[in-house]
Amino acid sequence: MYLYFRYMKYIWCILFLILTCQNPNKMSESYFEHLTPEEKSVIVDKGTEAPFTGEYNDFFEVGIFVCRACNNPLYESSAKFDAGCGWPAFDKVKKGAVNRYSDMSLGYERTEITCARCDGHLGHVFEGENLTPENTRHCVNSISVRFVAYEKLSVATFAAGCFWGVEELFRKQAGVYSTSVGYIGGQTNMPSYKQVCSGTTGHAEAVQVHFNAEEVNYETLLNIFWDNHDPTSLNRQGPDEGSQYRSAIFYHSEEHKNIAEESKNTLDSSERFPKPIVTEIVPATTFYRAEEYHQKYLYKRGASRCSL
Ligand SMILES: [Zn+2]
Repeated sequence: MYLYFRYMKYIWCILFLILTCQNPNKMSESYFEHLTPEEKSVIVDKGTEAPFTGEYNDFFEVGIFVCRACNNPLYESSAKFDAGCGWPAFDKVKKGAVNRYSDMSLGYERTEITCARCDGHLGHVFEGENLTPENTRHCVNSISVRFVAYEKLSVATFAAGCFWGVEELFRKQAGVYSTSVGYIGGQTNMPSYKQVCSGTTGHAEAVQVHFNAEEVNYETLLNIFWDNHDPTSLNRQGPDEGSQYRSAIFYHSEEHKNIAEESKNTLDSSERFPKPIVTEIVPATTFYRAEEYHQKYLYKRGASRCSL
């Protein structure tokens, strides 16, 4: 009896530690059997894929990233940004979708993130870097997640001068899921800002808008476009001069083409503008996402309009 009580206190201590320290959501090893050895090495064994090698590092399609092991929805693509670190970076996470743990594996403290449903390893989270207004970077291994495209969203592309201010107009519109600034309508593959600014590539600075047509229609986006620049000004908006600042609508469907042309004709005959509208209405070609520095430029700086 004495021995029983002597050892029971240790047994209770061990049980207490197991109950309090283990994640109750943690799946057994067998749960991850469906993963490949490469996926397991990161998701189960908490490895890290080499930087700039993951399939989602330089990837900006529109949709959602789910846990590769259990399909738990984790990150909207609208929260993804290019941190330049070589791994996908997100500044917002779905509420309750990830857990955080202290990680001392490198000899200093980092915060590990895991899927809240299956506890699969995702990566780490960093705060205080001031990379975006959220001030948070979820640094995630591509191999820990899987992308699922949002095919029901519509897309529209507008050029109306300096893309910093134009993006901010559309970003704030309800029903708009995401905005990106970039270059479209030129001849050079993957042009840089510097090349586009030289005026020799033929690209226009543009904003690509993904929107839910059930919440905001294309006509509303067109009104934002017409209301916020001078469509009678050829290759110039304010002090910005050059074909890269031209007024243009790059349509993605015949329906949008017809709506845009009708809208332009109606405005032209309304005498709202003293001169004819010079806005091009042309089919969308490859949209090259601009450097991260230009993405959500005004939002990141807490400004609402360009101060030129
Ligand atoms: Zn999971």
